[in-house]
Amino acid sequence: MIYTSLQSPDQENYQYELRIAHLYGNLMNTYGDNGSILMLKYVAEKLGAHVTVDIVSLKDRFDPDTYDIAFFGGGQDYEQTIVSEDLPDKKEDLERFIHDDGVVLAICGGFQLLGQYYIEASGKRIEGLGIMGHYTLNQENNRYIGDIKIHNEEFNETYYGFENHQGRTFLAEDEKPLGKVIYGNGNNKEDGCEGVHYKNVFGSYFHGPILSRNANLAYRLVTTALKKKYGQDIVLATYDDILSLEKAEEYTDVKSKAELEE
Ligand code: GLN
Repeated sequence: MIYTSLQSPDQENYQYELRIAHLYGNLMNTYGDNGSILMLKYVAEKLGAHVTVDIVSLKDRFDPDTYDIAFFGGGQDYEQTIVSEDLPDKKEDLERFIHDDGVVLAICGGFQLLGQYYIEASGKRIEGLGIMGHYTLNQENNRYIGDIKIHNEEFNETYYGFENHQGRTFLAEDEKPLGKVIYGNGNNKEDGCEGVHYKNVFGSYFHGPILSRNANLAYRLVTTALKKKYGQDIVLATYDDILSLEKAEEYTDVKSKAELEE
């Protein structure tokens, strides 16, 4: 059963419409990953888009023509095993969505399951969707836990997060990292890569949730989805118009320390 978990209030002045699929949102949602959905909705509404979020879970069809953004959150090994059994039924549709440049944000377990396979902490192999080339190995009696900072050279953007995973992911030749690790472990603690960027798929080990700490990435995802749907030349409010610190202060009337001391 697909069910709608969030929807923008019905107002007449929305110019656009964005539909988000929260893949397995009732199973894969560790550490408040759904905060990233709230952030997508916040940014989309600021850009004039009415948002609907559907949870698309076990036995539901993911219709690639219905959705503009797919979010696939993290999960424990137990939930990942359940989800992996349902993935083959969604593979064809998700593959079409990704190859047609649909926007995807995949966190931790979701990131792992877009790839070839994931070796659980117990050593058991879980099959992934196999749409992307990365694969994930396990490690003995250890997890990568802690604060992390990365830099994406292509966008010249820095992202901050908190990672918590045992899996060690290795990217394929045709996949770029979401960023190079400045501090923290990243995908595997060996190659300095964190996450993945492939077409319009953005994957990461950042929980926390990633988008509320990295409004630059949230803006990138939403504007990419809107431009794909409504044309590359639509004119959207800039990042500074809607999300800069100055604007936030203006909206909330927060005074700087210097102002308060005056
Ligand atoms: N179970 C996976 C791991 O430990 C993913 C964890 C997660 O999504 N937080 O690597």
